[in-house]
Amino acid sequence: MRVKIHSKHVDFKLKAAMHSMCGYAISSLGISNRIAKNLNLTIHMGHHATEGEARVAKDANRYRPRDFKIYLDHHRMDKDDYNRTLGDTEWGHRVLRTLAHELVHVKQYIRGELSWRDAGLLWKGVNHNPKNLLHYYDLPYEIEANGREYGLLFGFLLVWTGLEKKFEKELKEFA
Ligand SMILES: [Zn+2]
Repeated sequence: MRVKIHSKHVDFKLKAAMHSMCGYAISSLGISNRIAKNLNLTIHMGHHATEGEARVAKDANRYRPRDFKIYLDHHRMDKDDYNRTLGDTEWGHRVLRTLAHELVHVKQYIRGELSWRDAGLLWKGVNHNPKNLLHYYDLPYEIEANGREYGLLFGFLLVWTGLEKKFEKELKEFA
């Protein structure tokens, strides 16, 4: 798997966590190592119309996609749903959780559950085209992504904080 992260002002540790999250989520979502090896994920962090979006890359094979672009708008993640400003750790977790959400969509594209055709975005062959935010949350692919994002974050943090503890000494020496 090749992961490229384009971002400004995002610290090294969060970028490292994002790299690891890609591997963790793709494998947790049941994608085989053989397929995972051939994946190209390009993550763009910057202003975007939504908090996150996963797209099949322009030149990718639409019928067997392995190249993806993930957009994360971390500026939209500064505040929670109640307009409270998030602390650094909360913010970092929100970025990782949104990334996990988008990786569920990547899994859906790889499996062919979600596909990008001239007719638009299809779920199992059907274009759902949501009319409002309520419809959006009813979309089967959003239900899956929303349902899995927290578990993926939680599972990832167990591994990640374990790793940080294990390498505490090494991390300190190079800090
Ligand atoms: Zn989604």
